[in-house]
Amino acid sequence: MSTQDQLDMVIRGPKSYEIASRALDQMKDLGISPTPLNYELWLFALACPQSAIGVEISKLVSDRRPLSDVEAESMALQYLPRLRLPEEMRETGDKLTQQLETIGKVITVAQKNAREYGKTLEGASRDLEHPQELAEIRRVVETLAASTMRAQRENAALETQLLKSTEEVRRLRENLEQVRRDSLTDALTNLANRKAFDDALNRACADSAQTGRPLTVAVLDIDHFKRFNDTWGHQAGDQVIRYVAAMIANACPQPRFAARYGGEEFAILFPNEGVGAVHKLIEAMCKDIASRSLKRRSTAEELGTVTVSAGVAELHRGELPSDVVERADSALYASKRNGRNRTTNAEALAA
Ligand code: GH3
Ligand code: MG
Ligand code: MG
Repeated sequence: MSTQDQLDMVIRGPKSYEIASRALDQMKDLGISPTPLNYELWLFALACPQSAIGVEISKLVSDRRPLSDVEAESMALQYLPRLRLPEEMRETGDKLTQQLETIGKVITVAQKNAREYGKTLEGASRDLEHPQELAEIRRVVETLAASTMRAQRENAALETQLLKSTEEVRRLRENLEQVRRDSLTDALTNLANRKAFDDALNRACADSAQTGRPLTVAVLDIDHFKRFNDTWGHQAGDQVIRYVAAMIANACPQPRFAARYGGEEFAILFPNEGVGAVHKLIEAMCKDIASRSLKRRSTAEELGTVTVSAGVAELHRGELPSDVVERADSALYASKRNGRNRTTNAEALAA
């Protein structure tokens, strides 16, 4: 059983309240703030005392050591499954840390070498200030030549290592960037995914509130898609989703922001565009989508046409990001109710 399952079982079981109050008692006793994160850590520790987090917290309690927010965060990242980074990202992070450590070591060694070489030079110049005999000069020069060669050799080795590490860091950086991009992209359509949309929506709403410029949101849903799937199969259904996504991407280039919001639903942001203009644009696009007859990729079999319903809404002053989406959604459902294959303006709907 995973730690998460074990926790779920305990906090829904007969001992749930006892554990909850024990957690709060311990936190209060140690002067640890009952932030949601601290409380979650404590619940985990008490519900799963054998787990790594259970052991760590119980040590903290017996040492009567306080827990800083930073420590709690790092503990949560390490132990709370919900917060676990994707495996790949964590591995990349670990490798980056390793490489940075290597680079640090290389620099330390290079500094030490430079210091030692400096000392050799100093010694030589002291010896040469009042040279006694030719033999002594020769000895000094030979020492100098030997240590110069050693320094060159060591430097070359360090340089190679540094180059290798730098290259590895560059590769890991790209890797991380790719993981980040993947986590914001919908794999079927290559459009932004829901998470990316929510982030962009928050940013766009903040921008609009600050600049006073309009922001319009459109949501679209393919009509009778279940029927299409049932008739032609899931693969053809996927092809339709990709087709609609491509039409949307084509009709809504940057700075618009188009995303696959869910199964056969899409959402688009229109910064600096009022709802009237967006209404027209979406209507024209939906007409275009409905005008093309689709063929099955594999067999060229005729699949007929698909239609899309849409709703558009403009951000109101002081409105929450989620509210403008909700109004666009209501307008979309008005489109569905009124016969599908149409676009409804939330502002007109309200009036
Ligand atoms: P409406 O016109 O009211 O929107 O009807 P609908 O049939 O389009 O809506 P409904 O919500 O009943 O069905 C949506 C269907 O979309 C159900 C689900 O199986 C299908 N679906 C969701 N995601 C995918 C996907 O990624 N690929 C495929 N092929 N089908 C999907
Ligand atoms: Mg739907
Ligand atoms: Mg649908």
